Amino acid sequence: MILTSAGFALCYFLSVATVLAAEDSISVRPFGKTTDGREVSLYTLKNNRAFSVEITDYGATVVRLMVPDRSGKIADVVLGFNTIAEYERDSPYFGAAIGRYANRIANGEFKLDGKTYNLAKNNNPGGIPCSLHGGSAGFDKVVWSAERTTVDNLPALRLTYNSKDGEEGYPGNLKVTVNYVLTSDSTLRIDYNATTDRATPVNLTNHSYFNLKGEGNGEILGHRVMINANYYTPVNKGLIPTGEIASVKGTPFDFTETYAIGDRVNADNEQIHNAGGYDHNWVLNNQDAKLVHVATVSEPTSGRILEVWTTEPGLQFYSGNFLDGRLVGKSGKNYAYRGAFAMETQHYPDSPNQPAFPNTILKPGNKYQTTTIYKFFAQ
Ligand code: BGC
Repeated sequence: MILTSAGFALCYFLSVATVLAAEDSISVRPFGKTTDGREVSLYTLKNNRAFSVEITDYGATVVRLMVPDRSGKIADVVLGFNTIAEYERDSPYFGAAIGRYANRIANGEFKLDGKTYNLAKNNNPGGIPCSLHGGSAGFDKVVWSAERTTVDNLPALRLTYNSKDGEEGYPGNLKVTVNYVLTSDSTLRIDYNATTDRATPVNLTNHSYFNLKGEGNGEILGHRVMINANYYTPVNKGLIPTGEIASVKGTPFDFTETYAIGDRVNADNEQIHNAGGYDHNWVLNNQDAKLVHVATVSEPTSGRILEVWTTEPGLQFYSGNFLDGRLVGKSGKNYAYRGAFAMETQHYPDSPNQPAFPNTILKPGNKYQTTTIYKFFAQ
């Protein structure tokens, strides 16, 4: 390509403008020190609407998500804490990036290429031990490297973490990048990328706990949910998939039509009993890794609506059954039992032990690439 000097000047101007845009729309402030003395920061991404997101490099965690209601009143719609100490001590993964493997791996072990790998058994629902969300120090408990940048000309925070071979029992040096991108509407896009030097399971997600009435404003049972999935993966009492891909038809798991969470969350149903509510993986109708709309949650009193879009084949819809009212959040309010829900886009839990589930093994030379979008409206 031959550039005239005017063309060159224009390109130069555009690239400088792009850099300035990222710095302008992302501010940074200190967020304290971890117990082992590492400084962590809080980044604020803003666009020209009344929509902003705060993210800390500790756990690549979404700390605050400010969203207007139908009258323009802004509220923080995610659960979280004001201090890094509380995140380290008390957080049930509020807002964090989850890895190397989101959700559960049965008995904390899997076989790969003839070798058995042992992971930390950091969870035991129903008295059945398993590895949850990457083990005892998953990606939610490490400090990521942060860079303010642009992706597709939009302000973005790029967080990078190099997980070492053997870390938390997983094979291979895994290089992970999570880009949080704020688009021009009220949308947070999350791009996940990873590469490895040895075959390893990888399943990354974000664990935001949403309450569209505003964090701390009571339970979420009136929120209305649609999930574009005809099947789900039933679990045993240890919340491990049985391996069955079951139809949602005629069950409390059918959200192909919209229902309030509270309508059936206490139904007399074995699967609801096993999980103490909703805490299951929905097998999304889209299995083509295309970025599509998979779920909608609306909250009638505020008018806030959340749309979830993803390239992933699964969605963990969790109705906050393990919240028990003890944790006190950012605005000083206790977080109620079922005071939030999560919509974790993912591959299916325990896939490394379930050959019939979509593959989660990343091999050297291949790229792990997924995208999830949380899009907000008010009506
Ligand atoms: C799991 C729940 C778990 C929660 C917090 C969700 O992804 O499915 O069972 O309690 O994370 O750890």
